[in-house]
Amino acid sequence: MRINAITNWAYGVTVVLTVLSGSAFILSANSANQERIAVEEHLAFDTLGEELALGAEERSDEARLYVMRGDERHLEAFHGKEGEERRREAAIKNARAQGASAAEMSALQDIEQDAEALDKIEAAAIQTYRSGDRVAAQQTLFGPEHDRLQTALLESVARFRDLTNARTSAALNDARLRSDWFGVVAKTMLGLTAALFLGVLYFVLRRRIAMPLMRMTGIVARLAKQDYAVEVPVDRRRDEIGEMNEAIQIFRTNGLERDRLDAERRLDQQTKDLILQMMHRLQACQTQSELADVVARFAPQIFPNLAGHLYIFNESRTLLTTAGSWLDPHQSAASFASSACWGLRRGRPHLSNRGHSDIACQHLVESNLAGLCVPLTAQGDTIGLLYFEERTDAVAQVETSRLYLELIAENIGLAVANLQLREKLTHLAVRDALTGLYNRRWLDETLNRHAREEAINPLVCLMIDIDHFKRFNDDFGHDAGDVVMQYVAQIVIDTVGGAGSAYRFGGEEFTVLLPGMTEAAGFDFAEQLRTRIGTAPLSHRGRILGSVAVSIGVASAPAGGTVPTLLTRADAALLNAKAGGRNMTVSASKLILSEARDLV
Ligand code: GH3
Ligand code: MG
Ligand code: MG
Repeated sequence: MRINAITNWAYGVTVVLTVLSGSAFILSANSANQERIAVEEHLAFDTLGEELALGAEERSDEARLYVMRGDERHLEAFHGKEGEERRREAAIKNARAQGASAAEMSALQDIEQDAEALDKIEAAAIQTYRSGDRVAAQQTLFGPEHDRLQTALLESVARFRDLTNARTSAALNDARLRSDWFGVVAKTMLGLTAALFLGVLYFVLRRRIAMPLMRMTGIVARLAKQDYAVEVPVDRRRDEIGEMNEAIQIFRTNGLERDRLDAERRLDQQTKDLILQMMHRLQACQTQSELADVVARFAPQIFPNLAGHLYIFNESRTLLTTAGSWLDPHQSAASFASSACWGLRRGRPHLSNRGHSDIACQHLVESNLAGLCVPLTAQGDTIGLLYFEERTDAVAQVETSRLYLELIAENIGLAVANLQLREKLTHLAVRDALTGLYNRRWLDETLNRHAREEAINPLVCLMIDIDHFKRFNDDFGHDAGDVVMQYVAQIVIDTVGGAGSAYRFGGEEFTVLLPGMTEAAGFDFAEQLRTRIGTAPLSHRGRILGSVAVSIGVASAPAGGTVPTLLTRADAALLNAKAGGRNMTVSASKLILSEARDLV
């Protein structure tokens, strides 16, 4: 049964009990009134009986005293009592009206008759006395007839008193019992009402107020500690408790929302911090592989639900190849033509495989997981592609994180562009523009580096000078001279390959450094180079330039001397080769030996 129904029933029963107990009180009061009337009636009849007995005795006494003493005062008293006698007679007549029973009325009639008979005898005796017969009068008043009548009168009075006493006592008892009974009923009802009222009050206070308040206190205490997991029960009561419950409900909802926003803000801040950290590291990258490594380490921390690739264009800008990947993307090819990507074709981010509503890039395999291609651009140039792929279709993170993804792509694009620009500048700074060989400055730096580690690694140096180069300039012009220079440089590059490094020393002179080689091996290498240069005849703009010959000086360190003297020694050997007739190779160590021989 609902609390409301219980309280309503309890209120109803309380009202009925209150009405019943009020009625019982009224009845009890009525019975008390009847008891009072019965008491009064009882007293009235008792008094009447007593007066009747006393009156008869008093008149007889006065009559007897008169005939004994002859005192007129007794005669007057006898007659005075006659008035009272009339009053009593009237009272007797009223007795029926006052509720006297038939037996009582019969006793009263006997009293009246006996009293009248007694009156007659006494009046006659007084008359006899006054006529002078004192003895006869005394005999009459003290005689057996007078005694009999007086005794009969007293007996009738006693009978009347007994009857009235019995009747009025019974009525009095009845009224008293009734009054007591109704009094007990009224008090019981009042007690029950009070008990029920207190019970309902206790029930209402405990179940409707105290218990909900205690429950709410617990909930509020947990909410105050920001424990929003606490359940707030739904309470649809439309009273103050219900309103409080609703307020707590709203407070909890607001707290949960604030928590959610806080968590979102924290996550957002964490994402921003990670992006910032990644940007700082991108700026410090020196190579493309370093940059790809930074992206592959930070991207999965920033977006744990997105796998991806960093694609960079090849030099001819036709092919994209992955420079780094993270979280094992499996939809996109490792290398593909730029035309296979709609993002690159359109020059803006392109989302593939989201509900198949848009056209998918051709470098992606068919899938339900969305892929986002963000072109990497810097200063109007597209230099690569950042590709993100959802690992699960539970979260549409490419859409929710789109701004951050584009921000990252912009920064990676700028970093790649900076790196490429730096590589270009470095290339320009260390390379010779005409031949593509390293320049003299870079040769000095390399030699300095070798000088620092001289004790460990042997190094061979070739100094190469084109023979009679001036003639090419003079006979065919500077352009032809440049062509000869490029031709020789290309053969030097091809021959050296990965064995060492080649430099343009200046003019038509070149230097080759061959680490880890003996001077003898260096000599053989130089001879091989000289032969290759001299084999093919050259032509320029349809004119035969003829064959090119070079002279080469070879020196080594540390076997032949120190690194700082390497160039001087190789140059001396070269000069020796020139002096020896050109188109030849001279080893510095042999030169020293022959000089030593000459000295000997
Ligand atoms: P040798 O056999 O003694 O080395 O004679 P050579 O003519 O090669 O040497 P020389 O030092 O007399 O002449 C070198 C010439 O190379 C002088 C210079 O004008 C020319 N030269 C230097 N640098 C360049 C260049 O970059 N391009 C062209 N076309 N000529 C250059
Ligand atoms: Mg020269
Ligand atoms: Mg020369």
